[in-house]
Amino acid sequence: MTDNHKRLVIPGPVEVRKEVLDAQTAWMIGHRSKAFEELFARLQEKLRKAFFTQSRVFVQGSSGTGLWEGASRNCIRDGKKALHLVGGAFSERWAEISQLNGKEVDVLAVDWGKAHTPDMVEEALKKASYDAVCVVHNETSTGVTNPIKAIGEVVHQYQDTLYLVDSVSGFLGAELRVDDWGIDFALTSSQKAFALPPGLAFAAVSDRVLARAAQVTNRGYYFDFLEIEASLKKNNTPSTPPVSLMFAADKQLDDVINEGLEARWARHTQMRDMTITWADNRGMGVFSQDGYRSPTVTTVSNGRNINVDDMAKFMGGKGFSMDKGYGKIKGKTFRIAHMGDMQPSTLEEVLSGLDEFLGV
Ligand SMILES: *Cc1c(COP(=O)(O)O)cnc(C)c1O
Repeated sequence: MTDNHKRLVIPGPVEVRKEVLDAQTAWMIGHRSKAFEELFARLQEKLRKAFFTQSRVFVQGSSGTGLWEGASRNCIRDGKKALHLVGGAFSERWAEISQLNGKEVDVLAVDWGKAHTPDMVEEALKKASYDAVCVVHNETSTGVTNPIKAIGEVVHQYQDTLYLVDSVSGFLGAELRVDDWGIDFALTSSQKAFALPPGLAFAAVSDRVLARAAQVTNRGYYFDFLEIEASLKKNNTPSTPPVSLMFAADKQLDDVINEGLEARWARHTQMRDMTITWADNRGMGVFSQDGYRSPTVTTVSNGRNINVDDMAKFMGGKGFSMDKGYGKIKGKTFRIAHMGDMQPSTLEEVLSGLDEFLGV
C-alpha cells in the first residue's frame, strides 16, 4: 500500500489495518465444511465477549441496514406498534424502515444534537403500549451517544416491550453491555468502530426476540431470525456468507480482546476529549449536547465558518480523507471520526493538519 491511499477519518468506513485486510486473503473454504463450523464457533465465542452477552450473536452478510430491517420485521407484531427514538439521520431512517415494512410507528423526536432521556421514554411508555423501543446508541450524524443503560431501566418495566439498540457506530468504541443493560437486540456493522471492511452485520439476540419472532407471520426470508437461529445452532448460516470477511473478523476480534474492551473504550474516550478540547480552543465548538458527546465521532460546529470543501481538499493533501458533514447539518458542521483502531497519535496528526489549514 505504497500508493496514494488516504487514511480514513470519516465515520465509516474507517481505516482497516493491513494485518486485518490480509486475513481476508486466506484460501477459500466451503461454508458447509468442518473448517467453516470451527470458524463460526470461534466467532461466536469472541463476539459474546465483545457484546458482553451469554446469548447468541447473529453474523450476517449485509450492512447494518439489513439487520435494522430484520429487527423491525421480526420484533413488531401486526396490530402492535414500535416507539422509535429519533434525533438524527440514522434514527430517522430506522423509523422509516419500520414503516416501509408495514409496521405502525410512533416517533419520539428530539432536536438534532440532543440526547434522549429516560424521562422522555417513560412518559411515552405510559401513554401507549409498544412491542419494541428502538434507539440508536451512537447517532453518527450528530455525534450524540444516548444513555442506553438508563433508558433500558425504564423499558424493562414493560414486559412485552423489547429493547432494540442500533450500536453501529458505538460497538467496540463506546461502552455497551448487552446482558447487564437488558438489551434484547444490539446490532452493528463491520465498517465503523469494529474497523473491518464493510459487508458484515452482527447482532446480539435475546431469547425474548426469538419468542417474539415466532409470533410474527411475515418475517420475510433473508432476515428471518428463526431461520438464522436454526443454522446458528449448527454453527452455520442459511445462505452463503462472506467467508473472507469472517476471516478478517476472526483476526480483528483476537486483537480487540487482547487490547481489552475497557481499554478500547478508554482509548476512544481519550480521543473524544482531545477532539473536543481542540474544537473549543480553536473557536469552533462542538455541536452535540454536553454530557452526551460520542467517544467515536465528534461533530464540530463550524464556528469559524471555514469552507469544508477546501478543508477536505487540504487534508487530502496531507493523506487524510475527511468528512464534510451529514444531512441537514452538512457545512454548518463537519465530523471527525476517532473510531476503530485509530490511535491518539494519528488523531494528533489530523488535528495539527487542521491547525495548519486554519493557519493557527
Ligand atoms: C452507518 C450507520 C448505519 C447504517 O449502517 P450500514 O452498515 O451502512 O447499513 C446505521 N446506524 C448508524 C448509527 C450508523 O452509523
